[in-house]
Amino acid sequence: MKIAILSRNPKLYSTRRLIEAAEARNHEVVVLDVLRCYMSIASHRPSIHYKGKDLTDIDAVIPRIGASVTFYGAAVLRQFEMMGVYPLNESVAITRSRDKLRATQLLARRGIGLPVTGFANKPDDIEDLLRMVGGPPVVIKLLSGTQGIGVVLAETSKAAETVIESFLGLKAEVLVQEYIKEAGGADLRCFVIGDKVVAAMKRQGKDGEFRSNIHRGGSANLVKITPEERSTAVRAAKIMGLNVCGVDILRANHGPVVMEVNSSPGLQGIENITNKDIGTQVIQFIEKNGVRGKTKTRGQ
Ligand code: ADP
Ligand code: GLU
Repeated sequence: MKIAILSRNPKLYSTRRLIEAAEARNHEVVVLDVLRCYMSIASHRPSIHYKGKDLTDIDAVIPRIGASVTFYGAAVLRQFEMMGVYPLNESVAITRSRDKLRATQLLARRGIGLPVTGFANKPDDIEDLLRMVGGPPVVIKLLSGTQGIGVVLAETSKAAETVIESFLGLKAEVLVQEYIKEAGGADLRCFVIGDKVVAAMKRQGKDGEFRSNIHRGGSANLVKITPEERSTAVRAAKIMGLNVCGVDILRANHGPVVMEVNSSPGLQGIENITNKDIGTQVIQFIEKNGVRGKTKTRGQ
């Protein structure tokens, strides 16, 4: 097959591993910087050009679209879909999971375990909002945040009100969440391919830090996940419509709660910790499922 990887940097570990894995299985690989793709949206012959060349013979695309280029990246991916190219993850599934509020609403509708989550627009509703999520301590999150930035733990009502008011005053949108204290600053990253968790690791925040993000100084270890955690991760992936994703889960007293479903999960940490060749499993998934014109988004 000819496989395009949409990635802004071919030197990143995940991109390199996907290239290696695809080439080892005799596929042709091109890496495309999504911001250098431009398109003609014509009904008779939709097309994408890259640095002056028409991209016509691509069978499948692996989107690795960073959060900062979601809008343009999704538009380019959608255009590939219009051309009948198989996307590892569909554009609509990526934008669905990128929006924390939308994702939370859709997961809640299907009964997935989640922290009680509130969302409000006006500072005068804050008191009632705090009551709705069970009162302090609460976690306050910028809707647009990534890598743990913009995630704040507020221990008291006063602190929560001050933080929420400041964010709203800056016209930022925020989620207010029940704090899962018993998670102890740790979460589980479950790497899902198709309907299986193929690897999992536990991430622990550094001392005194409730956020487990590696970018915030956390560390990762091997972990054995329970059947309930496994099925929660697979169901969350399915609800988002993602074929390949990283589902982050906290261990709450009342069972697994989903934090986030990440549509471009990194390979480095999880491959190193588990010693598994996940890159090859991703390529094998494409070989099995990558049929042209199979995208659900197309024409719907
Ligand atoms: P980001 O997408 O920026 O990583 P998350 O919502 O995943 O933001 O939050 C970052 C980390 O903070 C999580 O991985 C988790 O360790 C911790 N965290 C977030 N929300 C809660 C919560 N409601 N209760 C306990 N810990 C939380
Ligand atoms: N089913 C619609 C869609 O696929 C709306 C659900 C959603 O917000 O993702 O886009």
